[in-house]
Amino acid sequence: MHNKALVLFSGGQDSATCLAWALDRYDHVETIGFDYGQRHRVELECRQTVLEKLREQLPQWAPRLGEDHLLDLGLLGQISDTALTADKAIAFEQSGLPNTFVPGRNIIFFTFAAAVALRRGISVLVGGMCETDYSGYPDCRDDTLKALQVTLGLGLDQRVVIETPLMWLDKGRTWEMAEGLGGEALVELFREETHSCYVGDRATRHPWGYGCGRCPACELRAAGFERYSRRSIASN
Ligand code: ZN
Repeated sequence: MHNKALVLFSGGQDSATCLAWALDRYDHVETIGFDYGQRHRVELECRQTVLEKLREQLPQWAPRLGEDHLLDLGLLGQISDTALTADKAIAFEQSGLPNTFVPGRNIIFFTFAAAVALRRGISVLVGGMCETDYSGYPDCRDDTLKALQVTLGLGLDQRVVIETPLMWLDKGRTWEMAEGLGGEALVELFREETHSCYVGDRATRHPWGYGCGRCPACELRAAGFERYSRRSIASN
């Protein structure tokens, strides 16, 4: 049962890297995504493109890549008043968190993923959460997810393992991980086709991919790619 994994795959760089990590490691990998009224809905199209191109360009993984599940979580968009789900400016709140924080989003995502995984005979859930280079979202923290792993396992009366391979990596190392798993081809695929930008900009091209260049997600992605590029130059 531990040779199968379900990857929380949003279409972003982090979850795409986790998908590659899982394809390298497990015999059978399925993906799950959520439509929750996010402003950057374009990521849902990007995730389809990434899945297609992974199959084409990394054929060694194609036989392992199984079903994709897309869940409608419109309710989450309805109950949260955030800059990620409503048309308002992205800003930092007094708590220090950006107002793009959708309360409990990852807890909800993993809970639904666990229910799907149970039905599919899968015990490993993989997510791209990271508390090294992040916006401070408390549901991305290692402690939150370790506690959730225990809760889900008890609540479903079945072993549930939550793997977060990016937890202690900065965003530069995440690009390096992609390179290590699938070489330059995978880095190029992720740079071109994964989507991080919170406002959904796919028109402006930067060295690190498409995005507005100003939102917190673009800033993290840009800084990470620069760090990755500098390290690559230094090591060549
Ligand atoms: Zn952006």
